Amino acid sequence: MFFAVITLFPEMFEAIKSYGISGRAAKRDIVQITCINPREFAEGNYKRVDERPFGGGPGMVMMAEPLSKAIHRAKELAAQAGCVHAPVVYMSPQGKTLNEPAVQKFVDYDGLIVLCGRYEGVDERLIQKYVDQEWSIGDYVLSGGELPAMVLLDSIIRRLPDVMSDEQSAVQDSFVDGLLDCPQYTKPDHFEGLDVPEVLKSGHHANIEKWRFLQRYQRTLERRPELVEIVTLTEQQKKWLKNSDI
Ligand code: SAM
Repeated sequence: MFFAVITLFPEMFEAIKSYGISGRAAKRDIVQITCINPREFAEGNYKRVDERPFGGGPGMVMMAEPLSKAIHRAKELAAQAGCVHAPVVYMSPQGKTLNEPAVQKFVDYDGLIVLCGRYEGVDERLIQKYVDQEWSIGDYVLSGGELPAMVLLDSIIRRLPDVMSDEQSAVQDSFVDGLLDCPQYTKPDHFEGLDVPEVLKSGHHANIEKWRFLQRYQRTLERRPELVEIVTLTEQQKKWLKNSDI
């Protein structure tokens, strides 16, 4: 999958390009992450990309022109990479809140152009003309769109085919089938007076599967009851639930 990120701070993306699951996906060419700095398209000696807001008030606003040129460049690169559909996404606290179903939809695209704002945000006309979707990572405000963009990229990359091995599989992760994940344990057996549940050491796969499902259901009921109301259970899971004391 092709990603073009429009950012004043391309160096920040070394984190996602070089480390962990996303870093390995980049090294294996499963994803291509290209950063485009709008400053390269700014005019004048000072290469300004921001100006005072019309109407007065605090802070600066990112100017539309360098951003539109950067988006055109991103679209050219996406076309060269063979992308058929690479929408322009603006990371914004005013966008829809990102969640797992939204991430799953992004996985179907072959490319994405992600715009990172700074200062007070970007000129509204740029959004009107060029932005296809606005996404937020939550109801709080960060100083820039780079961390939200990395959150978006990482959440998509770990869902792409062949990125995670079977052992790392993301299918049991929270939200994937609508429930939260179960509690996890590893060595040692005893830790500061707490033991690993016996069933997990039994080697009895059916019992382990049932225990994990009931833990996931119980946990979701306690922490996120609204998710339980919309989850679709398999017939087996319904039977386990009926015979439990949940
Ligand atoms: N004045 C803007 C507002 O209140 O809506 C906030 C601007 S914020 C300081 C600068 C940039 O950070 C935004 O343009 C956006 O790209 C990014 N940003 C901040 N919080 C975000 C969030 N929760 N989700 C996604 N992007 C965010």
